[in-house]
Amino acid sequence: MGKLDGRVVLITGAARGQGEQEARLFAAEGAKVVIADVLDDQGEELAKEVGALYVHLDVGEESDWQSAVAAVKHAYGRIDGLVNNAGILRFNELVSTPLAEFQQVLQVNQVGVFLGIKTVAPEIEAAGGGTIVNTASYAGLTGMAWVGAYTATKHAIVGLTRVAALELAAKKIRVNAVCPGAIDTAMSNPAQLDPAANAEEAAQALDELYRKLVPLGRIGRPEEVARLALFLSSEDSSYITGQPFVIDGGWLAGVSVV
Ligand code: NAD
Repeated sequence: MGKLDGRVVLITGAARGQGEQEARLFAAEGAKVVIADVLDDQGEELAKEVGALYVHLDVGEESDWQSAVAAVKHAYGRIDGLVNNAGILRFNELVSTPLAEFQQVLQVNQVGVFLGIKTVAPEIEAAGGGTIVNTASYAGLTGMAWVGAYTATKHAIVGLTRVAALELAAKKIRVNAVCPGAIDTAMSNPAQLDPAANAEEAAQALDELYRKLVPLGRIGRPEEVARLALFLSSEDSSYITGQPFVIDGGWLAGVSVV
């Protein structure tokens, strides 16, 4: 028996990275997975491989959410779970951040999560209840210089998670957030997307950085975040709602003076 047998779960930003690992794990645990992304070729290919449905969904576009939900209901008749995973990162000093860049990050990370909850929660309620997992960040619970827009949106996602949990509990929908530290995906390690980059050198530089920064001495793996998202999407977390769950190798625990 899988932990998600027969449940229909939509995962945004699932064509690669953490979302991809969530799609793989959820499918292996018996879910009917819906992979939603703007990377259509990659998403279609992954969907074929894991036996999922692919839908094109720009999370910042309300009409895309409506079309995606219609496609899922046409295919499976209902939705039991949502993982709001899609996100983007931009590096900039706050005072140098163009308004358009700030708003772009807001539109994807924060408006995307809002629209996901707004559009999908009524479907989960109609299915008799279920789960929503929002992807915040380590940067949703503490400051991080040079990623001000991102940090603002991730704090907002923690807030949205708490409010959604309060408002949706009576509808049998549990809402939690994952707060990953540094995870080895294209977001933290852009060399993964650059054919000209020396992948070995980039990996060594990351190892060096996180050996010093993170108590557990390494960057996290997207598979590790997927296991947390599975816990929060399954009956294993049946009495848990409204909480941010940090998965960061101890980074947020504090600082060491030696
Ligand atoms: P990633 O860049 O590999 O994956 C992000 C995915 O989101 C991609 O598939 C991308 O196409 C998709 N996406 C981007 N904009 C979209 C949009 N408008 N609509 C739909 N899909 C869109 O990075 P990742 O690490 O897998 O990121 C997943 C989530 O984890 C993000 O929310 C990110 O902010 C969060 N996160 C990542 C880290 C990290 O260190 N990698 C740490 C904390 C939180």
